[in-house]
Amino acid sequence: MYVFFLRKKSIFLVALLLSGLLALSTHEIVLPTSMNTIFASSEKVAYLTFDDGPTSSVTPKILDILKEYQIKATFFLLGSNAETHPDLVKRIYEEGHTIGNHGYSHNNAKLYASKEAFLKEIHKTDEIIGTILGIKNYSCHIFRFPNGSTARAYCQEKQEAMKWLEEIGYDYIDWNALNKDSERKYSNQVLMENLKESAKGKGTLVVLMHDTGDVNKTYDILADSINFLLSEGYNFKELTSPEH
Ligand SMILES: [Zn+2]
Repeated sequence: MYVFFLRKKSIFLVALLLSGLLALSTHEIVLPTSMNTIFASSEKVAYLTFDDGPTSSVTPKILDILKEYQIKATFFLLGSNAETHPDLVKRIYEEGHTIGNHGYSHNNAKLYASKEAFLKEIHKTDEIIGTILGIKNYSCHIFRFPNGSTARAYCQEKQEAMKWLEEIGYDYIDWNALNKDSERKYSNQVLMENLKESAKGKGTLVVLMHDTGDVNKTYDILADSINFLLSEGYNFKELTSPEH
């Protein structure tokens, strides 16, 4: 599914193979063009994304605000949280948002233990969501790596996992803007400043946020965040899978 940079440029490929060890040691990541294309676009589109939910304390608040502004977003669900909050999975789906797969456990040691372990987390999460939605053979078709695809930890395993995802018809996407809510140390004002700083000078934005209760109160600044992006001329869209 992916068209990787350099794939058809054999001269570069030879150089790439020769420098393979060096590349691995410096954690160089070859990105799929689909994700790069989104990040490189000058179009003023904002994809709001919420990871790690759903949770009863936060997800309903986020959904209420999105409904008020008539904005569609993307929720990268954890299978373990989907399992305990089927009502919220249904609500996310019924209100027209995209559901992405964030794995089952959010535990990198488990997730990357083997190819089987990795695919089991993806399939288990799909199965839980499909059962809740009453859709047979459900697949989210889009994955977000916990901590992102380019984080140093488990970088070699992630390179392998990108191939496994391709084998099962999955895309993956990171983000290019964030308010750093997962760092759990910022005031609402600083969260807003973080968002503005990370969005500065960019066209299309994929904004990382979280709908879990143990991080900063993204829901407190969500309306302000939306208003800021609207004032910057952004339209909002949800990420879509190939089948949408
Ligand atoms: Zn996460």
